[in-house]
Amino acid sequence: MIAAGGLGVASLVASPQHSFGDDKKPALTTKVAIARLKLGNKRFVEGKSKHFREGRKWRESLVAEQHPFAIILGCADSRVPTELVFDQGFGDLFVIRNAGNVVMEDVQGSIEYAALHLHTKLVVVMGHEGCGAITAALKSREERAKEPPELQQVLNLIEPAIADINPQDENAVSKGVEANVRWSVKMMNRIKTERKQSPDFTAVGAVYELKTGRVRFLDQEPEKKDR
Ligand SMILES: [Zn+2]
Repeated sequence: MIAAGGLGVASLVASPQHSFGDDKKPALTTKVAIARLKLGNKRFVEGKSKHFREGRKWRESLVAEQHPFAIILGCADSRVPTELVFDQGFGDLFVIRNAGNVVMEDVQGSIEYAALHLHTKLVVVMGHEGCGAITAALKSREERAKEPPELQQVLNLIEPAIADINPQDENAVSKGVEANVRWSVKMMNRIKTERKQSPDFTAVGAVYELKTGRVRFLDQEPEKKDR
């Protein structure tokens, strides 16, 4: 395990060349993976992105295998390009995106694939400020009924996540974004627990700030009663 032994977490996280040698080894621990994401996002926010691991030689090294250190479930929103936000390169992140970063069967299946076959143990559900899917889900059922059926299905998946939020609240969207992230984390964990053959992984939540570029990781809340 990379995190063990004489190397400190700081040096592992700071190394921009987590590269050929390391990638042959098992996935990073959750702690180191989160720290690496935070550091990459800090570079991005400060305008110091390195854009490493994008070159031809590196791409060729990935042809035979991949060992992404984190799985990201994010929104499909064009303003939140995952690798850029975390300043990560090819082979670093296993990214799943859909409108509203909701957990559907195919999403869970993709996460299970990465956790089981690529040995990636960290899942970050990343919502973002000003999410259109959350804004749409906060509308009345009558208004939502005007949307195409498939889109309604997505909004229906968001509905229980934001059930406690008053749409008239001036901060309804930002509250809804955070609640929806926590809900997706909860759904993932529930499926993982219910299905015994599901691989182990740790899911955490985060929210991306459109203006600052900062990713705010959410504190973990104790499990609440079902709504
Ligand atoms: Zn969105």
